[in-house]
Amino acid sequence: MTTLYRKYRPAKWSDVCDQDHVQKTLQNEIVLSTIAHAYLFSGPRGVGKTTSARLLAKAINCTDRKKNSAEPCNACTSCIELNAGRHIDVMEIDAASQTGVDNVRENIIENAQFKPTKSAYKVFIIDEVHMLSNHAFNALLKTLEEPPAHAIFILATTELHKLPATVISRCQRFHFKKISYEPMLNRLRKIAQEEKISVEQKVFDGVIAKSDGCLRDAESLLGQIFSLNLKNITARDAELMLPSVNHEIVLNFIKHLTNGEPREAVNLLHAEIHNGQSPDQFALTLLELLRALLIIKMSNSTDLYRSDYSDHMLGELQNLAKNIAQTTLITMIELALKRRLDAKTSPLPQLPLELLAAEVVALVTGPTMPIGSPEIEKKTSIIVTPPKETIKSIVPTTKPSVLATTIEQIHSKWASLIEKISETNHSLTFILKMCTLKRLEHNLLVLGVPYSFHKEKVEELKTKRVIEQALHGFFQEQVLISCEIEEAVTAPPTADLTSLALAFGGEVVD
Ligand SMILES: [Zn+2]
Repeated sequence: MTTLYRKYRPAKWSDVCDQDHVQKTLQNEIVLSTIAHAYLFSGPRGVGKTTSARLLAKAINCTDRKKNSAEPCNACTSCIELNAGRHIDVMEIDAASQTGVDNVRENIIENAQFKPTKSAYKVFIIDEVHMLSNHAFNALLKTLEEPPAHAIFILATTELHKLPATVISRCQRFHFKKISYEPMLNRLRKIAQEEKISVEQKVFDGVIAKSDGCLRDAESLLGQIFSLNLKNITARDAELMLPSVNHEIVLNFIKHLTNGEPREAVNLLHAEIHNGQSPDQFALTLLELLRALLIIKMSNSTDLYRSDYSDHMLGELQNLAKNIAQTTLITMIELALKRRLDAKTSPLPQLPLELLAAEVVALVTGPTMPIGSPEIEKKTSIIVTPPKETIKSIVPTTKPSVLATTIEQIHSKWASLIEKISETNHSLTFILKMCTLKRLEHNLLVLGVPYSFHKEKVEELKTKRVIEQALHGFFQEQVLISCEIEEAVTAPPTADLTSLALAFGGEVVD
């Protein structure tokens, strides 16, 4: 069976997918007859480099090409021979299979000296050119320095950095990019239409997400799905070929965690696993999405993910990224990495993910706040007390406090103080919830945090000012802030158990 990639390989420029910047320049050169002697096409695999090289070769040798058009006629002998892969003057060499200097000499350098047999140009397309040996590059370089007037070289590579600078500098360079979501979708839809197969949108989304901007992979995957021989393909039919988890489901999982809804998160996870999803694949998708959220947050842009997600999904990711603090995302990624490793040795494969859910919820709701919503607590009759650690730490220390306010008073108002601060500084809420009140020293309130990046954030001048002003508002006294890192890295085990119990609708029995 002919692969879809071959069957639908573009026969003209207007069919080339999402490489407008390259196409425009090349088409101009064809129309104006300002063809260079050496081109270098770089970029990821499967995005149209060889296809464009063949189109260029075809257009310049087409005997019937219209004036002021770069499109080959696809009907003259030259076009037909090239389309069939048997054009005598167009040579395609895969450097990955012919790395020897002799082959280059024989196939390219000597051959280039002879005039074309029946075309205007002799074209040499060298795929994966970075695989050539040093000797082969030296031999090629000589030809590129003094190319015969009728010879055109098109070098293609996925690894530009492996090419000698001397070769690069001899060529006109074009960089091919990954194919974006929309053009990829249009292309796959068109193929499905031509094949008269109706395909559910989710299947297209799954194919695109799995292909990472590589059109060849997308078309090959679609071909495998078409081999199911169905006229109507649903997400369920394609499940076996597309084992990746539905991104929207994992995104909802993240939303539940950051909203402090462990029960909903774990229910969703269980439903997925019940439907045959592997916990490892779920964890991997979770990591992918958390990483995307972090990158979108840091760059304040979704550009990097245009080839992976639909506009709708990008919008969702952008909104979510806005609402999660960067520090929370970092911690979530660290936890997800750790728990994914744990999954390999866990006797219950989904347990690490359940623990992760508990940890993240404990993290976002914070050890100084009750876990879960009041409604859930009532149902499960769990009374959450502050972790022992916090109580133990309320002990006077070596430098007696000079303040009238006591740490107990601050402790009793801490939740309201966080609420007050969150009205104007929403991003601080998470960090403040992570803090434990350690002690009052002289005029300093010492806060304990689990990670160094929390400490850095709290100790930023701007952050300190905000907290100190809020403290002043509550206690009419100048309380200054200091911060130290605590031993405990994640939430205390009691929080884990409690939120796990909540998630399963149970309760912790002493
Ligand atoms: Zn033609």
